[in-house]
Amino acid sequence: MTKKIVLASNNAGKIREIQSLLAEQGMEIVPQSAFVGEEVEETGLSFVENAILKARHASRLSALPAIADDSGLEVDALRGAPGVFSARYAGPNASDAANNRKLLQELAGFDEAARGARFHCVMVYLRHAEDPSPLIGEGVWEGRILTEPRGNQGFGYDPLFFVPEEGCACAELDAERKNRLSHRAKALHALLARLAAGS
Ligand code: IMP
Repeated sequence: MTKKIVLASNNAGKIREIQSLLAEQGMEIVPQSAFVGEEVEETGLSFVENAILKARHASRLSALPAIADDSGLEVDALRGAPGVFSARYAGPNASDAANNRKLLQELAGFDEAARGARFHCVMVYLRHAEDPSPLIGEGVWEGRILTEPRGNQGFGYDPLFFVPEEGCACAELDAERKNRLSHRAKALHALLARLAAGS
């Protein structure tokens, strides 16, 4: 019998990607949109706190085990900012372009060596809403922040994120290549390994 798991995201791309990997383990993903309820507020100061908040909420709504992820960009020179505030760096409901402009302003005057950064993703699995021991998978993707945008693929900070292993900006990678290398892919594989180990 397939085991159902709710995914605390309604992003079609994420659902497809996670679904195809979990199908091999006899698990079926149900999107959170299948259940009626409010969105949860992301009040945590760390990725793991927010991922757990989202998974707990989804599990409570659905009475199913839940998977949730939280991710963002950490810049060394900015002590890890924008971090969990990546989506709202330039203000509530800020556009990607506004967030990227703010990042360039904050880093004005920093030379290349000081522009180290990474995308970070934490993915958690809760067996039920009160599960005291979530399974956690993490993924980081190291790079650095460019001085001007490059490329037009992807979303968010992709045009400013230089990927050394590919020699180009993240927004110059096609979706398939990015999905193989990304912080999300790494976090998902780490979580799957923990799920497969039954821990
Ligand atoms: P979420 O937790 O996946 O919703 O990501 C939060 C925010 O982090 C996004 O709105 C983006 O600003 C940033 N972010 C996360 N992943 C990526 C990525 O792969 N490329 C560019 N920006 C990202």
